[in-house]
Amino acid sequence: MKWCGWGDPDRRLDLPTEAIQALRDELGIVPGDAIEPVTMDAVELPEPRPLPQAVRVAAGEVLEGADERLRRAAGRSYPDLVRLRTGRLETAPDAVLRPSDAVGVEAVLRACAAESVAVVPFGGGTSVVGGVEALRGDHRCVVSLDLSRLRSVSFDQTSLTVALGPGLSGPEAESALEALGVTLGHFPQSFEEATIGGFAATRSAGQASSGYGRFDELVTAVELTAPVGRLRTLKIPHTAAGPSLREVVLGSEGSLGVITEVSCRVRPAPLLRLYEGWMAADFEQGRAIVRDLAQRHEAPDVIRLSDEEETRVSLELAGTEGFRKRALDAYLGLRRRRGGCLIICGWEGEREAVHRRRSLAQARLRRGGAAALGGSAGRSWERSRYAGPYLRDELMNLGVMVETLETAHTWSRLGELYRAVGGALRGALGDRSIVMCHVSHAYTDGASLYFTFFTRARRGEEIDQWRAAKSAACEAIVACEGTITHHHAVGRDHAPYMRAELGELGLEALGAVKERLDPAGVMNPGKLLPTP
Ligand SMILES: Cc1cc2nc3c(=O)[nH]c(=O)nc-3n(C[C@H](O)[C@H](O)[C@H](O)COP(=O)(O)OP(=O)(O)OC[C@H]3O[C@@H](n4cnc5c(N)ncnc54)[C@H](O)[C@@H]3O)c2cc1C
Repeated sequence: MKWCGWGDPDRRLDLPTEAIQALRDELGIVPGDAIEPVTMDAVELPEPRPLPQAVRVAAGEVLEGADERLRRAAGRSYPDLVRLRTGRLETAPDAVLRPSDAVGVEAVLRACAAESVAVVPFGGGTSVVGGVEALRGDHRCVVSLDLSRLRSVSFDQTSLTVALGPGLSGPEAESALEALGVTLGHFPQSFEEATIGGFAATRSAGQASSGYGRFDELVTAVELTAPVGRLRTLKIPHTAAGPSLREVVLGSEGSLGVITEVSCRVRPAPLLRLYEGWMAADFEQGRAIVRDLAQRHEAPDVIRLSDEEETRVSLELAGTEGFRKRALDAYLGLRRRRGGCLIICGWEGEREAVHRRRSLAQARLRRGGAAALGGSAGRSWERSRYAGPYLRDELMNLGVMVETLETAHTWSRLGELYRAVGGALRGALGDRSIVMCHVSHAYTDGASLYFTFFTRARRGEEIDQWRAAKSAACEAIVACEGTITHHHAVGRDHAPYMRAELGELGLEALGAVKERLDPAGVMNPGKLLPTP
């Protein structure tokens, strides 16, 4: 991954010139607004603290070079990228440890607990909530525990399950599975860089979650290596033996221990993938259609509804210019859908099933008032499904502040939550900002809302500006009794809101589990649970 940006260092996204100019005009961006990234060797990291000898011996491989520490010092939220680009990092791990297996992880954790060394498990480092920040708490020093060497794959063909090492990246896991003729079907936008362990530790949700399920729904069993020992749940399809410890481990964000193996259900690789676009008159009509599809269990595997603003900006950034734009405009005008809301639908599976499910859903879409845009809108979404983070780098190069946040609620309160969070963001960012939203994970009882916002970044004040917007949105979410996160997890940034999420007794119960598994409190301090 680019050391201060996203993805493949050789890949850049070219934005159409007209789109850049339109965005500059709308947001009031002037030349000189952008942060020119410093070079990697100009970044000044905090002086490393010495690593206790017992930890060094237990670890085997210890990386202490500045570049290794820098590459594990931050996730990929907007403030992370600002800190990296300006070379101003207040925290960094004192060293990086890379155990080769679960036994090695156990030895390291035992030594770290005995020597009071904080441990930050590190998967792909794509956290957008400060999950991998090297916070030391009150410990002697802090290490990043890089899990990239734990990459086993063990397939049970009869049961269609696979046990995976946490260090496999999304593409590594999928290509191993592809060779076996199966798929997990878990494709978050961070797929290229995030890992199996990270998916489990954060309860990740992929773009096709309506069809395949969120990552936590795919998991059948976990192995957690904690400072006090190893906890394994049975590899079985279901159990009624008390509350689920698997669920306690999923979403634990490295604060209880390290997830050293994840067993998942897989499906035969799809023979056909069909994506297409539809246009709803407005966001309310679009939500009613998505709800109807979800409640009748007829939702496509991918269903994504953009609000009016996201639809407008996506079409602008895609540069749908010239003849194609005029043709689309004319068509939408004819169907009275100009200024409407784009719905992307995708079906995957066996040919006959795809066609059957698609025609059921198409009937519902039509009945709900949506107009068909055809396959090209769907294929264009499919081609650019992982482009968002590259786009963010380019927008930051122009001086745009770009960030995303997400939440979820029941259908009956989704409209209220949408208005409250959108209003809070606009209030914090001012008039010359763009706040847009989509629904991409739908359930029978509700859905998630995913907000993206752009504004002119004020040089030198970017992080304060971000903080004002983020807290306004989080407070609006809490006031509406929505969840503080549907899939980005808690990390450091959402920890202060966990009291509202779980209540005092709930927090104490989670704290008691942590106390039992990590009595020295070395696992990922300052994340998940609020500091008292
Ligand atoms: C551009 C972009 C797009 C994104 N899109 C999505 C999306 O579509 N859906 C989604 O759900 N999320 C998304 N995310 C968020 C992020 O990618 C996910 O949270 C992902 O699951 C994190 O995986 P990772 O391997 O990068 O974990 P990391 O960032 O390395 O770690 C995340 C947290 O989990 C802990 N951790 C990591 N591995 C382990 C382990 N083996 N055991 C215990 N703890 C561990 C870390 O300590 C940290 O607290 C996106 C992020 C970015 C930057």
